[in-house]
Amino acid sequence: MGGFEMKASVDRDICIGCGLCEITCPEVFELDDEMISTVIVDEIPEDLEECAEEAEEECPVTAITID
Ligand code: SF4
Repeated sequence: MGGFEMKASVDRDICIGCGLCEITCPEVFELDDEMISTVIVDEIPEDLEECAEEAEEECPVTAITID
């Protein structure tokens, strides 16, 4: 790892607004006023990669993509 930038995205058509990703990784995901998860960072800082990946795995409808 190192020098490898990660980005997260949420498919707004799939997200059901359960809030799990915000609980797991609030520095990266936040529910907006439509109760849809949005990514609040451009690139995921290294120290947040682990929680962002955890949120991706935990999302019940697989709305989160990290690459
Ligand atoms: Fe949406 Fe998935 Fe986050 Fe739940 S865990 S708010 S369904 S992106």
